[in-house]
Amino acid sequence: MFSNKLKTDIQNELQTMREGGLFKVEKVVEGHPGTEIIVDGKKLINLCANNYLGTSQQKGVLKAAQKALKEYSLGLNSVRFIAGTTDLHKKLETAISKFFQTEDTILYTSCFDANTGLFEVLLTEGDAIFSDELNHASIIDGVRLCKAERFRFHHNNLEELEKQLIAAKGARRRLVVTDGVFSMDGEIAKLDELKALCDKHDAIFVVDDSHGSGVLGKTGRGSIEEKGVLGKVDILTSTFGKALGGAGGGFTTGKKEIIDLLRQRSRTYLFSNSLMPAIAGAALYVIEHFEQEFIPLKERLTDNTRYFRTKLEKLGYTLGGGSHPITPLMIFDEVKTMALADALLEEGIYTRGFAYPVVPKGKGRIRIQISAAHTKEQLDTATTALERAGKKLNII
Ligand SMILES: *Cc1c(COP(=O)(O)O)cnc(C)c1O
Repeated sequence: MFSNKLKTDIQNELQTMREGGLFKVEKVVEGHPGTEIIVDGKKLINLCANNYLGTSQQKGVLKAAQKALKEYSLGLNSVRFIAGTTDLHKKLETAISKFFQTEDTILYTSCFDANTGLFEVLLTEGDAIFSDELNHASIIDGVRLCKAERFRFHHNNLEELEKQLIAAKGARRRLVVTDGVFSMDGEIAKLDELKALCDKHDAIFVVDDSHGSGVLGKTGRGSIEEKGVLGKVDILTSTFGKALGGAGGGFTTGKKEIIDLLRQRSRTYLFSNSLMPAIAGAALYVIEHFEQEFIPLKERLTDNTRYFRTKLEKLGYTLGGGSHPITPLMIFDEVKTMALADALLEEGIYTRGFAYPVVPKGKGRIRIQISAAHTKEQLDTATTALERAGKKLNII
């Protein structure tokens, strides 16, 4: 029963969040023409979307989605193994395997589902799983669902990881999992060293490259390409919600036997409807046309990122990250972080401030994300706004 006591308890919980500055207010976006968004009737330059390549507005992508919508309707009203598998889903799985040099692929309605449906299929009591402390929430939840012994290593601390791997020598299976790109810092994982460590200690190597796929590496294969382990990780998970599309959807790709087993046992695959055909059509378009249409956009993204970072550094801002378009503007002080986000909004720039518990205490930041679709003019406008707002608040 929803008693008055329960009601008051929840109200108090929400109030504590408000007072602590932890209450998230969703901004209602009224239009999404791309790098601009309309919020509260005001047109703003969007500096915080995962729209790295501008795919969600790209003509070819939209056309492919519309074609799939027309041919296959809104959806299959079914999970994959009953009546939810179309030739489009199979084509997309084949295209992804080819793109990432893997043996087979399984689609999910999100990368969150891919991660939560993965580990419990492969691991049980008597096994061990090793996870970087900064891994994405979906990995953390996936780890929680499996019965293997859990080891959490400090961020990027491979010495600690090795000690843990040795301590778990008696386990039937060992599995190491990491984000390819850590989303709060735009930092790329040491995938080459992790791979070597996994080989040395006979551990399965899993990378979630949601922020890397389509963005990093010479041919856009992601952080795995950038770090020289393309075709060498056992399991790769990623999303169609960032550079490879923009709507939703995800996948797990890797060794054939593992994908076969996931099709039999992965709960988020078996008990959830198949991927919307329009999303599958759009993702297939991006993968199949990556060379011709999206590599140039990826190069433009790199160029935009360099251009904007140089401008911000000249202004005197402290930046985190490096080559990835995630550009954290380190403000440190939480109150100032939020004040800067508000001031930027006044200036017509849309960003969000991140404070504890999303990032560690005293590490408040504005996470800027550059897109290939940003024009130099937009980046210049944003620079001017950041100069004015930063000076007003005594940040620079
Ligand atoms: C964004 C992200 C996800 C979630 O992807 P969805 O497809 O939106 O569920 C999972 N893992 C990482 C590392 C991400 O950055």
